[in-house]
Amino acid sequence: MSDATLFTRIINREIPAVILYEDDLCIVINDIAPQAPVHMLVIPKQVIPRLADASSEDQSILGHLMWVAAEVARDAGVDEAFRLVVNNGEGAGQTVFHLHLHVLAGSSGSPMFSEADIG
Ligand code: 5GP
Repeated sequence: MSDATLFTRIINREIPAVILYEDDLCIVINDIAPQAPVHMLVIPKQVIPRLADASSEDQSILGHLMWVAAEVARDAGVDEAFRLVVNNGEGAGQTVFHLHLHVLAGSSGSPMFSEADIG
């Protein structure tokens, strides 16, 4: 069994996904279990398990991911109202230990956190 992360296997086309954007540094896919009408994942090709594992040298890829998030939000027509979420660590709900930004849009007027998030 491969040690590659789930997202590396998607990047390598070993597992299918709806790919919305790709460049040398990252890929954007639709989340398989969307939590909002628009729910995309921006994933670096370089494996950084958690945001907290990023080093000083990773600053430019982290910035690139943010820039791509805004680009794909624009492409999806939601650049006037979207959220970025990064779950860092199991305690925060991270389930795939390959850094990714959730781009969420299309739910109106919801609070930033639900009780479940902060409980
Ligand atoms: P996390 O919980 O780590 O912040 O987010 C992982 C996300 O990956 C979840 O929203 C989950 O629905 C999504 N996900 C898990 N497996 C797959 C998959 O095989 N394909 C796609 N497109 N998304 C997945």
